Amino acid sequence: MTAEAARAALTEAARAALCDAYRTLGRRGLMGGSSGNVSMRHEDGMLISPSGITPERIEPGHLVATGFDAPAPGASSEWALHAALYRADPARGAVVHTHADACTALACLNEPLPAFHYMVAGFGGDDVRCAPYATFGTAALAETAVAAMRNRTACLLANHGMVAAGPTLEAAMAAALDLEMLAGQYLLARSAGQPRLLSPAQMGAARKRFRTYGANAPA
Ligand SMILES: [Zn+2]
Repeated sequence: MTAEAARAALTEAARAALCDAYRTLGRRGLMGGSSGNVSMRHEDGMLISPSGITPERIEPGHLVATGFDAPAPGASSEWALHAALYRADPARGAVVHTHADACTALACLNEPLPAFHYMVAGFGGDDVRCAPYATFGTAALAETAVAAMRNRTACLLANHGMVAAGPTLEAAMAAALDLEMLAGQYLLARSAGQPRLLSPAQMGAARKRFRTYGANAPA
């Protein structure tokens, strides 16, 4: 196989994987129509979902290859958010952004997801921060998200939704699905009473165990 053919095969595989991820977000109810977007680092830039396509209609050919300096035609309106997250951390290989119900409900309270469950430690800290509100699609939103994601794999976006990232598409998807599950559980617990939060020492012990047994692996 020539180098060019190998590159084309890699691109094709990346498009198929991203397309699958987009469909999965739809099937799992995280998409709210076509409100989410997914990307993965590819060559010198990224492959990103197009703006305004439903998970039922997306095909691998719809994914848009673009650099980090300016969006290629058809790229998601949140292109700048994805680009800023890749620029801020070279270890990030994929980014998922959605308006999933539970995450968005909590983000609309402008509250972080606190240490109510040990799995919150899987995102890298004692909570999942909520980035302050900024207009969608702007560099200001990208900046607030980068700050809230420092040393973390996810954050909430006030009055908007959530972002998750990881070294691989699988890791970013797992973080997004876990975060939505946990946000739902937290809101359910809040509706029944005041959840008891874990201490920093208890969260530290959970993080240590995650490092040994693999991030976000429920035990
Ligand atoms: Zn959004």
